[in-house]
Amino acid sequence: MPARTVYADNAATTAISQKVLSAMTPFLIENYGNPSSIYSLAAKSRHGIETARVQVAEALNAQAEEIFFTGGGTESDNWAIRSGVLANAKKGKHIITTAIEHPAVLNTCKALKKEGYELTVLGVDALGRVSPEDLRAALREDTALVSVMIANNEIGTIEPIARLAAITKENGALFHTDAVQAAGHVAVDVKKLGVDLLSISGHKFKGPKGVGALFIRKGLRLSPLIIGGGHERGLRSGTENVASIVGMGAALEDACAKLTTSVRYTRKLCKRLIDGVLKIPYTRLTGDPDDRLPGTASFVIEFIEGESMVLMLDGAGISASSGSACSSGSLDPSHVLLALGLPHEVAHGSLRLTINEDNDEEDIDYIAAELPRIVSRLREMSPLWDDKKKG
Ligand code: PLP
Repeated sequence: MPARTVYADNAATTAISQKVLSAMTPFLIENYGNPSSIYSLAAKSRHGIETARVQVAEALNAQAEEIFFTGGGTESDNWAIRSGVLANAKKGKHIITTAIEHPAVLNTCKALKKEGYELTVLGVDALGRVSPEDLRAALREDTALVSVMIANNEIGTIEPIARLAAITKENGALFHTDAVQAAGHVAVDVKKLGVDLLSISGHKFKGPKGVGALFIRKGLRLSPLIIGGGHERGLRSGTENVASIVGMGAALEDACAKLTTSVRYTRKLCKRLIDGVLKIPYTRLTGDPDDRLPGTASFVIEFIEGESMVLMLDGAGISASSGSACSSGSLDPSHVLLALGLPHEVAHGSLRLTINEDNDEEDIDYIAAELPRIVSRLREMSPLWDDKKKG
């Protein structure tokens, strides 16, 4: 049995809080009416959904009628991009995105390319930043939509969205941002950002899984991705996931209410973690050292395989992740790390530790004590390390 268990994979998903669970429970047991029915039990479900809509809208500085509930971040991204290009079809069939987007965005854009759209994928610098000047140069007369994430899920770098959106607006293209890792972790204000479309996902900020939302700027008419009985004002059909929508609203409201204190606390813990891990020789921080998500500590540790590290950390009771495992089962390193310009063999040694306000200093010190031991053990087995020692 490990001496301690530490969950350090909050970018993958989070545990829902007791407060969120309490908000959801009545909608699973007592107030289970179908929100589309006309009796009073159903009215309670409708009220739960509309309360959540206001909570999400207030958290993003949007209006309630600009928020549409979906089945998660992936669906919100697919919908924003697929229907966004159709909404701006008069402009043309050119899309711009970046090399470090989540597959929900990148693969949607690639699918559209196969369907006849033209795609420009912007590169990033060594810290994972998208350059506004690169975007300006890539925009064309026929650019219909630009999609750039607020914060990257592997390296935590925060992008200059307000500037990118302003440049896009001058051109007349629509601007979508994937705020899945940002919402509830840093301030997200749709007006300050100046975006047309913004995706969020409940399970990244202590809400439930399988629920998300898309912000659609007022005045923008988007066609539905999912067609059926006309729920969500005809834009997203399917009986609403009432309890999860309620849970997401409560979770985002709570995260935003605590944001200043949680950012301060998490940033401090994360700095302690980064300082501890960087003591391991041949280890580098990935992503922007300053403009990054407060709880994301991401590294490449040379002469090591990321997955082996994650398995050994698991043996020590620590849940972490590595960007080197691809969901398709291929052994290619993460597309994000390669986009930073890291060589394949270095990108293979990636480790992502993502903490939140539920972690404490003892968790951090435990990771900082276990990880060097694990790295030494793995390096002893590595032929590359052997070569390195022999010079
Ligand atoms: N976008 C980003 C940046 C993510 O990190 C994720 C999930 O990891 C998604 C989209 C997909 O969200 P969901 O898991 O809700 O489908």
